[in-house]
Amino acid sequence: MISIQVKQLTKQFGSVVALHGLDLTINPGELFFLLGPSGCGKTTLLRSLAGFYIPEKGSILFGDEDVTRLEPHKRNTGMMFQSYALWPHMTVAENVAFGLEERKVLQTEITKRVGDALASVRMEQYAARKPNQLSGGQQQRVALARALVIRPRCLLLDEPLSNLDAKLRLEMRAEIRRVCKEFKLTTVYVTHDQKEALSIADRMAILESGHILQVGTPREVYKRPTRKVVANFIGETDFLLGKVLGKVGNYVTVETAVGKFDGIFGDPSNIPAVGDEVTISIRPECWELHRDAEHRNSVRGRIGESIYLGEVAQYEFVTSNGPTLKIFERNPRFVDGSTRGELYATVEPEDVVVLVD
Ligand code: ATP
Repeated sequence: MISIQVKQLTKQFGSVVALHGLDLTINPGELFFLLGPSGCGKTTLLRSLAGFYIPEKGSILFGDEDVTRLEPHKRNTGMMFQSYALWPHMTVAENVAFGLEERKVLQTEITKRVGDALASVRMEQYAARKPNQLSGGQQQRVALARALVIRPRCLLLDEPLSNLDAKLRLEMRAEIRRVCKEFKLTTVYVTHDQKEALSIADRMAILESGHILQVGTPREVYKRPTRKVVANFIGETDFLLGKVLGKVGNYVTVETAVGKFDGIFGDPSNIPAVGDEVTISIRPECWELHRDAEHRNSVRGRIGESIYLGEVAQYEFVTSNGPTLKIFERNPRFVDGSTRGELYATVEPEDVVVLVD
């Protein structure tokens, strides 16, 4: 297991600065995700780790070794990309063996390691097949075996599941986590799929315009975004503009157009002063609907449009004197027209995140 350290990494393409002096430490054995909007620099960072791009400034360390200028094939990274790029004329076993043959490993050793790698992704019975005789998920498993067989120092994955249908993606994401943990591999994983990241990441970084905005566990990033762009990017959220009325310990009271809210600071290193303008972020599933007003952090309104989805209903909650909020109700009670009328949406202070920018 190795750590991966990125120090002050800057990568430019002509006048486009794709990475702006990034600092990041990925712990040994960690399954680490890079997330962010299109063009934020995820692939550039991953390709810099793989050695396909040489940065203008900064350094990359695998453990204690500075690999910033090391050629890709000397870094010993296992890679898996969107297109699995298996050789169509070779069998599964030959595809997996390819990297070992290039490295001039002995034939008896190759046979053993290919068998072990295929077994680790549960594909040993398909060794003699050609890629076009396999399903998409099976091809992806072979690509994973091919990445693992060289006993890489780390695994670099770029949208590895984007060619698969929804059911296979679910199955394969669990499989990828299992394999990474079994092999104790430090893994960097680029995806657009937030659910993929939230469900299997140990930690994740959110990037925007070549900068890292936040690093944390899925729960930290989802429940405690430090910036509006992060709250907006991960999951759904209701934003309300307001002004700080007061602060007590870790809690802050904010006056908004729909009433006062007690909440928590999103970024403890950027705490607003009394009177400052702020934005509060509340996830739609954090609201609870009541018929009476006797609750803290409560907004009056009525349900507008609603979508019933079985285990949950999604409402547009039209407030009397402010913006329309999005509210998700599990085990829906208010979706039936007969229960409509004036309601109160309430939220716990821990679910009200006060953001400065
Ligand atoms: P996506 O989610 O769309 O794949 P990304 O986050 O992976 O995006 P990158 O591919 O890393 O983004 O691109 C970061 C920035 O660098 C973008 O502005 C992109 O246009 C630019 N860029 C990337 N590769 C090159 C290149 N080879 N030449 C010029 N500009 C590039």
